[in-house]
Amino acid sequence: CGIVGYLGKHDTKAILLDGLKELEYRGYDSAGIAVLQAEEFSYFKAVGKLANLEAKTADFTTSGFAAGIGHTRWATHGKPTEINAHPHLGDASYVVHNGIIENYQELKNALISEGAHFLSQTDTEVIVHLFESLLNGGLKPFDAFRETVSRLKGAYAILLVTKQMPETIFFAKHGSPMIVGVNESDEKFFGSSDAALIGKCHRVIYLEDGQLGFVSRTGIHLEDAHAAAVVPHFASLPESK
Ligand code: GLU
Repeated sequence: CGIVGYLGKHDTKAILLDGLKELEYRGYDSAGIAVLQAEEFSYFKAVGKLANLEAKTADFTTSGFAAGIGHTRWATHGKPTEINAHPHLGDASYVVHNGIIENYQELKNALISEGAHFLSQTDTEVIVHLFESLLNGGLKPFDAFRETVSRLKGAYAILLVTKQMPETIFFAKHGSPMIVGVNESDEKFFGSSDAALIGKCHRVIYLEDGQLGFVSRTGIHLEDAHAAAVVPHFASLPESK
């Protein structure tokens, strides 16, 4: 299972698919990507090998500034079907997640009673509906994301993209690995292992448990579980494998 993300103006589709390939060794049963470019979402999911996802995205092109996230799934809740593959969608946001949300059933019941529509059997899908429910309740996007994360129990590495704050990728890490990278052109990358980042960026932050934040065109915002700002500590990656 693995996660990749990219915010920048290069070929988002190729960068995501290439990153997922580098994470194949971790094992997976299905895969997916989602891209927000020019205020439009595109997403693709496929069961089985990445070649199936590549075939589905063959006619899809990315150009210009975009926010993209990708996932290889190792099912823990819900069968390995296309519907259960990530990303999971709300009305205007999508999410990828590695790990397990232990209190998902309780969150799901509450969201269903508010009128949320669930498509999958995954634990993950509660994240996007909870986020949107908090947004609809009047919270600003990052406040809604922070509140969402604070209500999750379990292990997670999460990326979330929303139309309500385009050109931004939200991230959170607790108990599952997540690395953020930046290169000289100020492109931002995510990977659940540095294998996905080597050759793309040299400066990386190995996120610590409890940390969350977002990347935008202008930089990286990082904070701890108590909403206190954290100054990023950058490590260096080798130039190539
Ligand atoms: N628990 C989530 C699911 O079953 C994520 C699994 C993973 O880490 O790939 O969809």
